[in-house]
Amino acid sequence: MTQQRRIIFDVIQNSMRHMTAEQIYVEAKQILPTIAMGTVYRNLGLMSDAGEILRIEMPGQPDHFDKTVRPHHHCLCTYCGEVYDIPVPDLTEQLEATIGSPVESYDLTVRIMCDACRKKNAQ
Ligand SMILES: [Zn+2]
Ligand SMILES: [Zn+2]
Repeated sequence: MTQQRRIIFDVIQNSMRHMTAEQIYVEAKQILPTIAMGTVYRNLGLMSDAGEILRIEMPGQPDHFDKTVRPHHHCLCTYCGEVYDIPVPDLTEQLEATIGSPVESYDLTVRIMCDACRKKNAQ
């Protein structure tokens, strides 16, 4: 593993958030000031392909990256763009029972106003 890849990996592992490439770049730059945005993008692609991290695609949003690689659901705050995990069980079986055909994949996009934004709004 290259030094850059290790740093990018650590940034993701140490964060509680689902960061975008740009947010990961900002953090990685604190550790390695010479790192380039292109390097971050390239390594994020390699690591998601290798299954080391999870790429989360959200409509109308930049991709977010997750250290939790097992399939799980996310919700998106439409106000700040933050992505959160949601503990919803896998729906494949239920969908298959309802539809009567094997489900290859499905996308679930849940849009919310997150706690932080609700607090900000209440002030
Ligand atoms: Zn929010
Ligand atoms: Zn997640």
